[in-house]
Amino acid sequence: MVIEDLAVQNIVRNHSLARAISDAGWRDLRTMLEYKAGWYGRDVVAVDRWYPSSKTCSSCGALVEKLPLNIREWACACGAVHDRDVNATRNVLAAGLAVIACGDGVRPPRS
Ligand SMILES: [Zn+2]
Repeated sequence: MVIEDLAVQNIVRNHSLARAISDAGWRDLRTMLEYKAGWYGRDVVAVDRWYPSSKTCSSCGALVEKLPLNIREWACACGAVHDRDVNATRNVLAAGLAVIACGDGVRPPRS
């Protein structure tokens, strides 16, 4: 499983997202993912929070300079049109699989 290690404290500073994010219990979710993955011999990889998952084209790898949060869909110069969240999900999965394959960039599991 691949998750994005987001800085929740920074996200909740965005007032339109604060309540939804605060209610979600992300730390508990991550803790449960990690111990349940451990039961089944699976890995949980947390992709670094600074990885630009939303701003990277999942088709060609190009990086857009700015992508304000209100932009939900965008077109890359390569012609790919992305839903912001679907694109970020594809990039996070690819980054996590690369981490598993290369063994690089894995953060130590939370204790
Ligand atoms: Zn592209």
